[in-house]
Amino acid sequence: MKTTLGLYLFAAALYVLIGCQDEPAGFLQGEKAGFKEVYANAETLPVAAGVDEDAADDPAIWYNSNTPEKTLIIGSNKRGGVGVYNLNGQELYDYKVGRINNVDIAFGVAYKNELIDVVAGSNRSDSTLLLMTVSKSDGALLPAHPSQVLKADVGDVYGLCAYKSFKTGKSFIFMNGKSGRVQQWQLGFDSLGITATVVRTFALPSQVEGMVVDPYSATLYIGEEDQGVWIFDAEPNGASEGKLIATTTAAKNPKIVYDIEGVTIYHKSPKIGYLIISSQGNYSYAVFEKGGEHKYLGSFQVMPNEFDGVEETDGIEAISLPLGSNYPKGAFVVQDGFNYSKANKKETQNFKIIDWQQIEDALGL
Ligand code: CA
Ligand code: CA
Ligand code: CA
Ligand code: CA
Ligand code: CA
Repeated sequence: MKTTLGLYLFAAALYVLIGCQDEPAGFLQGEKAGFKEVYANAETLPVAAGVDEDAADDPAIWYNSNTPEKTLIIGSNKRGGVGVYNLNGQELYDYKVGRINNVDIAFGVAYKNELIDVVAGSNRSDSTLLLMTVSKSDGALLPAHPSQVLKADVGDVYGLCAYKSFKTGKSFIFMNGKSGRVQQWQLGFDSLGITATVVRTFALPSQVEGMVVDPYSATLYIGEEDQGVWIFDAEPNGASEGKLIATTTAAKNPKIVYDIEGVTIYHKSPKIGYLIISSQGNYSYAVFEKGGEHKYLGSFQVMPNEFDGVEETDGIEAISLPLGSNYPKGAFVVQDGFNYSKANKKETQNFKIIDWQQIEDALGL
């Protein structure tokens, strides 16, 4: 027994030391590289794709206001669909709706005499905006309209985020293309379902992807992959010129290694919160104050523990509402580029779920 345990510990130590085979040689991780360390509390079922395919991409979190611990993760699979998972990572539904790159949720969209939640996705199969409604009883997704096809004009569709204006109550979807073009769609409805029309188009200099809006300040954040994060006015009549947040560039912040991928916000209060970006090139997440001077607060990595660590993340999503006793301050959900089983066997990509409390403690937020 002792020998078996010893061998196991040796193997585990070796795994931690050399990491998984996809990491560049000599690649320092965790505290050795100056990163704070957190661990996954749960992971989703791997998405349906080949084991070496880049497939899972971007998560969204559907908050279940009736039963917060039954909040759901909605994850895109750019090889062909959208999966719905519970907080234990079990898959509830898998919809073959096209090569969905990014996904987000528009909460409280006006539809006839009610407010409904709408899942939006950038569909690379046909460069369209995909819209589906969330069934509040079981989290199932249904087409938002039986016949409407929402063709985008941004080249190959890529990043996406939702925004509900506190000023006007109107709901919007921002969708960008690899070209750097961004279109703002306003959601509406007709007798058959949810509709969308483009109300603004503007462009950034090069490839963009991750986006998020801070609704409290009506600020749209856009990650330009090899440059940094930009801020824009999120209102449709806002200026089409943005401002680059200096500390999100590699030139000003050695902890950022391109590409900049997912961008999300954890809201502590309307005024205080954290802008988080996926620094894909060094497998880490950089945290900034939202608003103001966007002061850099530190970076962290998701290290191996009960589940494998997280590498080369694309999309990320944070929620600040309590989700039951396992996630009392909300959660942070990330795509994992190299997913391994507990027996260290490579599997298809998935999403990891992290208790926000860990991040707050690790960074002293
Ligand atoms: Ca990827
Ligand atoms: Ca997302
Ligand atoms: Ca990308
Ligand atoms: Ca991993
Ligand atoms: Ca795993």
